[in-house]
Amino acid sequence: MGKKKGTLFVVSGSSGSGKGTVIGELLNISDKFCYSVSATTREPREGEVDGVNYFFVSRERFEALIESGEMLEYAEYCDNLYGTPKSFVYSQLEKGISVLLEIEVKGAMQIKEKMPEATLIFVTPPSFAALRKRLYDRGTESTEVIEKRLKIALEEINHVKDYDYIIVNNDNEAIKAAEDIILISEGKYNKYTDARQIIKDFIN
Ligand code: 5GP
Repeated sequence: MGKKKGTLFVVSGSSGSGKGTVIGELLNISDKFCYSVSATTREPREGEVDGVNYFFVSRERFEALIESGEMLEYAEYCDNLYGTPKSFVYSQLEKGISVLLEIEVKGAMQIKEKMPEATLIFVTPPSFAALRKRLYDRGTESTEVIEKRLKIALEEINHVKDYDYIIVNNDNEAIKAAEDIILISEGKYNKYTDARQIIKDFIN
């Protein structure tokens, strides 16, 4: 029998949904998880490191990667291209390591089509107003870009029905919810462990 393959997790959500925090926590939980670094034609933000946050490439280079079939999926978002390099994802899954992709909706739909066994998770802030506030408070983009991203968020929310799980990111419960989803997807969810914890919390 072959070695058990890793599971592919796709996490989407509008920028400012807090999905980055959820992913960061998940990667901390287990060393059997890894993050797929995407390629993008967007300019790096302050503090972003090439090869860590993204592979920052020119549009020509990106188009060459598409041409040579090296992208598992890709999409245009806010006038820039974003895509997932294929070989890294496949090699990790083969080794039994689960892979997390943080990608927007169009790319997620491509993954759903190509790899139906993937688990798709959508993270959303509790409301549009909360999202607007988060984006303006974060202050990493110009007003014009923020408004564009808010418009995309309104379109993207229509796709929640295409995802396996939806996390409303309004409090600390979001991370626990994400952990449970991952345990369920990997067939490791143990309701007895959970029940013991619930009883313990109830008594204390
Ligand atoms: P940001 O510019 O804020 O880093 O990312 C903008 C959007 O692009 C986010 O929704 C993010 O999830 C998405 N994104 C990042 N990497 C990829 C990728 O490899 N493929 C696709 N389709 N979207 C991506």
